[in-house]
Amino acid sequence: MSKKPFYITTTLPYVNSDPHIGFAMEIIRADIIARAKKIAGYEVFFNTGTDEHGVKIYQKAFNSNENTQVFVDRYATKFKELKSVLGLSDDIHFVRTTDPHHVSAAQEFWRRCDKNGFIYKKLYKTKYCPGCELEKTDVELDDQGRCFIHPTTELILIDEENYFFKFSAFQKPLLELYAENPMLVVPDFRFNEIKAFVGRGLEDFSISRLATKMPWGISVPSDDKHVMYVWFDALVNYVSTLGWPEDMKTFETFWKNGTPVQYCGKDNLRQQSAMWQAMLMAAKLPPTHAIVIDGFVTGDGGVKMSKSFGNTVDPLDIVKEYGTEALRYYVARELSPFEDSPFTMEKFREAYNAHLANGVGNLTSRIMKMAEVNIKKVPVTPVIPESYDAALARYDVKAASDIIWSKIGKLDALIQKEEPFKKAKDSATKDHATRIIEQLVRGLADVALLLEPILPISAEIIKKCVAENKSPAQPLFLRK
Ligand SMILES: [Zn+2]
Repeated sequence: MSKKPFYITTTLPYVNSDPHIGFAMEIIRADIIARAKKIAGYEVFFNTGTDEHGVKIYQKAFNSNENTQVFVDRYATKFKELKSVLGLSDDIHFVRTTDPHHVSAAQEFWRRCDKNGFIYKKLYKTKYCPGCELEKTDVELDDQGRCFIHPTTELILIDEENYFFKFSAFQKPLLELYAENPMLVVPDFRFNEIKAFVGRGLEDFSISRLATKMPWGISVPSDDKHVMYVWFDALVNYVSTLGWPEDMKTFETFWKNGTPVQYCGKDNLRQQSAMWQAMLMAAKLPPTHAIVIDGFVTGDGGVKMSKSFGNTVDPLDIVKEYGTEALRYYVARELSPFEDSPFTMEKFREAYNAHLANGVGNLTSRIMKMAEVNIKKVPVTPVIPESYDAALARYDVKAASDIIWSKIGKLDALIQKEEPFKKAKDSATKDHATRIIEQLVRGLADVALLLEPILPISAEIIKKCVAENKSPAQPLFLRK
């Protein structure tokens, strides 16, 4: 293969509810990075999918009198539809944890960790939050003994024999991994959080449940009284999607040599940057290259988004009203790349009008109208500024987008200052106007190139307008 490989993945959303705005944000950002890498000449493997096992799904299907497989099939279809709704890369890979290949890969991953001495069985007694899918110690619970993140969820008391993963053996290796890879977790403040967590010492965690209590899961190899509990099932998707362990060529290309990047929300910090990295070491597989941690999308004023507060937003509704590219724009530039970000429809509409309809949309129409009337086709050789590449290299899609909109602002200012549409009408200033309009067209071609990963459809339209020296048939973004 002549192209350099690159691997990127989102987390797999759990299919007990519809796709929400937080996941839309995560996958759009991953898509932007995937597209930018492709433009830079990489061969890209972009992975997403659905996490489909577990007691919550089993119960939900059971309560609605639906066969569990039919239930998860229905949800998987909904998540697959995100590809067209969010304008994701055509060649995105979609792995389901109920795929037979994933099931056998998860079992093989378990076998290897077991063979290497990192799995054992013991009596397990704990409080467990089904919302977080994590064990909770008393300090992690509120006065009522509830999880801080899921105050309405009943904790489960577990008292049974389970398999455990020897997480405690990985404190030193993890701290070494962190020291050797200063960009492993992005942003820095999240990296510091996980270093501190691991630094405090690690406790082994349970990785199985009794099949009688959790009938919907992957059987533990050579003990079908137990099913795998979420982590040894779901996290293994990152390598099973590559055909591991059978297809070692694809695995080596994209996991070993493809600088694998995992996008996730801040509630996944521990799972992705400590648990999964320890599991990889236990199976003797190479670590992840970078883990990018998103903040949460919140309601107005930073309050939690929840159905009971009536402040949730549905990405499908936004796309229906404003279009895919408007949502991609908002995710890329108006939400903080790493901190929590409030999301309201008022702010969305304001930003849409200011930066899309009156911004890049209006600029494209103005420049190309002047070009169509006054000049001949301009040969363009757009270039990507270093600062843009540097922003994307640190996964700061907002900083990269800001570079584009600052360019748009400069082109607007140039029109304002030079008024080429007026000067073109006067023979004394016509030549000067021609040069200004040519400069504007070249600037617009730069904008189109930089927009490609973020707003691929608009970028394509602008490129076509420049190539044909024609104004767009209709405005890129209608005012709302
Ligand atoms: Zn919880």
